[in-house]
Amino acid sequence: MLTFYNTLSRTKEPFEPLVAPHVGMYNCGPTVYDRVHIGNLRAYVFADTLRRVLTTNGFDVLQVMNITDVGHLTSDADSGEDKMSKGLKREGLPMTLVGMRELAERYTKVFEEDLASLNILHPQELPRATDNIPEQIDIIKRLEEKGFTYIIPGDGVYFDTEKDAHYGRLGGLTPLSDVRADAEESHKHGPRDFALWKFNTELGWESPWGKGFPGWHIECSAMSMKYLGETFDIHTGGIDHIPVHHNNEIAQSENATGKVFARYWLHNAFLNIDNEKISKSLGNVLVLSTLQEKGVTPLAYRYWLLTGHYRSEMNFTMEALLAGQNAYLKLVERIRELDEEGGTVNDEYYKRFMDAVNDDLGTPQAVAVLWELLKDEAVSPADKKVTALAFDTVLGLKLDSVEAVAVSNDIQSLLDARQAAREAKDWTTSDNLRADIEKLGFDVKDTPDGQKIIPKNS
Ligand code: AMP
Ligand code: ZN
Repeated sequence: MLTFYNTLSRTKEPFEPLVAPHVGMYNCGPTVYDRVHIGNLRAYVFADTLRRVLTTNGFDVLQVMNITDVGHLTSDADSGEDKMSKGLKREGLPMTLVGMRELAERYTKVFEEDLASLNILHPQELPRATDNIPEQIDIIKRLEEKGFTYIIPGDGVYFDTEKDAHYGRLGGLTPLSDVRADAEESHKHGPRDFALWKFNTELGWESPWGKGFPGWHIECSAMSMKYLGETFDIHTGGIDHIPVHHNNEIAQSENATGKVFARYWLHNAFLNIDNEKISKSLGNVLVLSTLQEKGVTPLAYRYWLLTGHYRSEMNFTMEALLAGQNAYLKLVERIRELDEEGGTVNDEYYKRFMDAVNDDLGTPQAVAVLWELLKDEAVSPADKKVTALAFDTVLGLKLDSVEAVAVSNDIQSLLDARQAAREAKDWTTSDNLRADIEKLGFDVKDTPDGQKIIPKNS
């Protein structure tokens, strides 16, 4: 039986799609004003694992992930600077829709590269908010006709949460005492009301209410319902989206259509770095390419993530990741050594593995089953190999493709040797090792924090 913890009911529930074998799944995607950080990537590894588990259970999954390329302010609750405008300033791009598109394309491409590096299957649909403006305007019109909106002149069109008897049914709402002060300044009727459309006379699109751009929440309602229908199966995101973004998505979608919006809401817990929340102000934002420069293969990061449950907070340290990388490399090595000829999947292990992942994505248990299988002398090498590779369709660790691993392995040992040579002030050996690393396609920089490797020509 496949079960998921549904934030909506606050319980683990058996999963049954609306129209089996089809499953419609929507994942809140990135705001493409900058590179996503490794915490964001946890949300996408989780969504990908969910998709793989569903597919392995015989479901036909249509996965939709949005690209937010307009309208997301630094605070999820309609205040602060527009993130895309911030990106335009940072990169010296013109404050125009064309400039915004260029910025979005730049970071969407980098995002897609990160997905590929982590062996995250490409969502079948990756729609951009700016390509779906009419769809968003349409929902706002429907809400307006039903009396759920009001206008704050010079500011925007707002959703009136007072009119929605079920507002906040996903739970987790921020206490009123914490949102009241902000709301008083903004002339909103209620402290939890939120923007559907923001007026902007310079940057934006024409609408029945005036030129401007959509609010961040309406984007997800429009793009999910466009591809998956007004009621669909699964909606995911990080837990930070529960209090505001997802409650707002539900409110505007369900009041526009009169139907249930998403049926199962799954949320991943946060990744912290060195026990701190990842944030620009703390200066601890790590991106995938930085890990790669330090000689970590992205799949080792994926492995390390899977050793934690998606609903448990994880604390990232370089030390923990490197231990994860060692384990991952060992895993690949062991599987590589096995002879595949004539093996069949071991039913008992396969069942235990599937029971683990089908129980609300128990990936830590699933990884433990994999290790146990590899150590079990009662299972033949050929059966082990075939069974491990069957697990890998769910884990997505490319356990049979050793290229990336071999390269990162080699580089790491060269870096270690070079470090030792430098400590011994043996500059000739150090320079020779640098040349060897260059042959593998990386430049080495010596920094106060130690050696850094950078892919050549980047
Ligand atoms: P955002 O661009 O802020 O909407 O974030 C993209 C996705 O990453 C969302 O699903 C967030 O909930 C999620 N997210 C943001 N920060 C973290 C973190 N530190 N750990 C895990 N997920 C995160
Ligand atoms: Zn969203």
